[in-house]
Amino acid sequence: MPYTYDDQNIFAKILRGEIPNDTVLETEHSLAFNDIQPQAPVHVLVIPKGPYVSYDHFAQNASDAEIADYTRAIGEVCKLKGIEDGGFRMISNAGENGVQEVPHLHVHILAGRPLGRMLDKA
Ligand code: AMP
Repeated sequence: MPYTYDDQNIFAKILRGEIPNDTVLETEHSLAFNDIQPQAPVHVLVIPKGPYVSYDHFAQNASDAEIADYTRAIGEVCKLKGIEDGGFRMISNAGENGVQEVPHLHVHILAGRPLGRMLDKA
């Protein structure tokens, strides 16, 4: 299935500097910033700078340099936030069933409190 990237999504606007963000880390190919509606004491979103809709889109199409940079950026955010000891959860929602609101790949990094079980039964 072809992936169609909408460059009017809010994270694309953040990347173009049209909307402010609370940056945690910026690298050559990635940006990490605090979620505007945090669901835990630590709630950081990590996005690639390239136009990828979802993790599968990215994993299938990004360059090795982008993938390495993005993975290292996630690791660096964990270090910067000091969450390696207490633990954390990483989530990347995709598409309709994943209930993805913003169609630009993002990983949520959540930490700082017990996060409950992974999924509810609904
Ligand atoms: P998802 O449902 O996985 O697509 O998550 C989208 C996330 O983006 C939500 O947690 C929102 O709170 C967050 N969000 C939306 N707009 C912004 C923004 N301008 N800055 C930071 N986070 C945002």
